[in-house]
Amino acid sequence: MRFLPAACMALALVPAASFSQSPAPAAKAQPAASQPAPPPDVKSFDPAAIDTSVDPCVDFYQYSCGNWLKTNAIPSDQTRWVRSFSVLAQRNQYLLWKDLDAAAASPKSALQKQYGDYYASCMDTATIDKLGAQPIQAAWKRIAGLKSAKGIPALMSQLENQGAPDGFFEFGVDVDAKDSTKQIVEVAQGGTSLPDRDYYLVDNPHFVEIRTQYVEHIKKMFVLAGDTPEQAAREAAAVMEIETAMAKSFLSRTEMRDPQKVYHIYSVDDLQKMTPNFQWQSYIGAIGIGHFDTLNVATPEYFKVLNTLLASEPLESWKSYLRWHVLHGAASQLAKPFFDENFAFFAHTLQGQAEPMPRWRQCTVATDRALGEAVGQDWVKENFPPAAKASMDKLVADLEKSLGEDIKDVDWMTDATKKAAEEKLAMFRNKIGYPEKWRDYSSVKINRAQYAENSAHAAVYFRNYDFAKLGKPVDEKEWGMTPPTVNAYYNPSMNDINFPAGILQPPFFDFRIDPAVNFGGIGVVIGHEMTHGFDDEGAQFDGKGNLRQWQTDADLKAFHDRTECVANEYEKFEAAPQLGTSPAVHLNGHLTLGENTADNGGLRIAYAALLEALKDEGKSINDKIDGYTESQRFFIGFAQVWCQNTRDAYARQAALTDPHSPGKWRANGSVQNFEEFGKAFNCKKGQPMFPTSSCRVW
Ligand SMILES: [Zn+2]
Repeated sequence: MRFLPAACMALALVPAASFSQSPAPAAKAQPAASQPAPPPDVKSFDPAAIDTSVDPCVDFYQYSCGNWLKTNAIPSDQTRWVRSFSVLAQRNQYLLWKDLDAAAASPKSALQKQYGDYYASCMDTATIDKLGAQPIQAAWKRIAGLKSAKGIPALMSQLENQGAPDGFFEFGVDVDAKDSTKQIVEVAQGGTSLPDRDYYLVDNPHFVEIRTQYVEHIKKMFVLAGDTPEQAAREAAAVMEIETAMAKSFLSRTEMRDPQKVYHIYSVDDLQKMTPNFQWQSYIGAIGIGHFDTLNVATPEYFKVLNTLLASEPLESWKSYLRWHVLHGAASQLAKPFFDENFAFFAHTLQGQAEPMPRWRQCTVATDRALGEAVGQDWVKENFPPAAKASMDKLVADLEKSLGEDIKDVDWMTDATKKAAEEKLAMFRNKIGYPEKWRDYSSVKINRAQYAENSAHAAVYFRNYDFAKLGKPVDEKEWGMTPPTVNAYYNPSMNDINFPAGILQPPFFDFRIDPAVNFGGIGVVIGHEMTHGFDDEGAQFDGKGNLRQWQTDADLKAFHDRTECVANEYEKFEAAPQLGTSPAVHLNGHLTLGENTADNGGLRIAYAALLEALKDEGKSINDKIDGYTESQRFFIGFAQVWCQNTRDAYARQAALTDPHSPGKWRANGSVQNFEEFGKAFNCKKGQPMFPTSSCRVW
């Protein structure tokens, strides 16, 4: 389900987790490097990062990361700075940039010519600036020709066929949640530009101010594109009115996590009857997807409201909305004034980012996003040795064994349900490094002097790639992340765990370091993804990837009681500090429940796998290396993955939108639910990290 992203380790391109602490005043913010340079290596286990003045039994995160936090301010072009994810992502981007830069100068293959030209077109800011708003003019002309609201579906199909983002709603093809052998069309709520529905609806001073600034931003963008200030003000008001009305009917982000709540099979005829003001055949018939009779309407209420809006809003307002949609969608590919204004609102005001990333980095990220499996082919040859894959195969097998043991040992499941859980585990598919078969991008036309056009061609390619899946068997070998990505994911419909080459590097995975630290790093990542198969969302799917109850009713209730314990526990944690007169924000226990369950389970099964590995080598968990026991090294290695400084504005946005908890709670929440931690650090029962009662699902 495109609108229901597979559960992952951390968000890839939009940074994810956050930590509610401002960087210490002594630390100087690092400026963004404008010249490409390799970032320093990050140690998997760094004693210098530890703040020994803090009691690990009171605040383990502060103990493991305290010194790092003081000396690693957020670079000016970042919204947060994570010791592991951010630095490794920058390293991977630097290595990718070297390939792109070389390919742009002298390509050695057709593939290199393609991605080299894409990168070069992005770097060519002189041409981009000269073009001004020209790249959106053809779309705006079509919008100007709209005669009535009846023409909107046909117009939308034309705009999207030219590379404009989905308007009004998400439309795509994915695995049928209840029959994982089929791929069907799905439609879901969409069409707004702010990060979450709460930005439109919640009445506190923070959101009221953001809404005022958002309307100002829309106005400025229209003026830049040539509208008069009066016209721009009218248009901005119309856009805000329509988006607010849409947002009012949205399911919340937490509701969207529930696969039952977003599964409603309709015939196309019934959808048409429900929304008489939107002629579906004029849209579907023109987007090149082929025939279908039924589809999943994820959010029926939204489509009912959209139908009403189509009749109640004047034609001029729809034109403004569509003009905004096209302009906003292309903003980062347009001339500098558009880029700067877009950055000022969406990156600076909303997330606190001080300045844009250097151009070479932006263009590296953009090329990876547009042609990831083209660029990735050369990248993995250079950066992912076969030995790394073999070691990962072994680690994954170790972790699977330890999750199997865990399932056997838990005391709240009957044997029948345990058997079903073991069957599901046995059906996991593991994908490591990169795809066996690469996507064919040969149809994507790239013009070295047309960045916005190239970006549109890539968008159309993705859309057609997606549409071509309709009615076809599911491709089990498909990847949802590009090879250099520092992330990993579990997809419940495929029942597969996926680890891109990008994360299989230090500090997560290091040949040179002792096993305890690797199990605390990549071991927990693997355990985290596996546990997603059994979190509050993943556990609703069986081993074949079908949305179906495989637990007995009583066992399901016992499971629910345990996940509720985790939700209530994390709800008490602060996610973002007080901002002006707006109060501090606490974590949303149910939005983050899947990730927290995966963190807790991942830590526990990685620890069990470490015990087994040490036993095989004739070692004990209490053996010491450099003054720390194996178990202490495991936990410190784990916590140091999550050391991070975060801008307050970004923390606030993440509290609403990110299903992952901030790093502080990913570390502390997990260890305080795992009694082996308290033993490893000789904590006294009742201390914060060794509570007398805690939560456990797996
Ligand atoms: Zn996850």
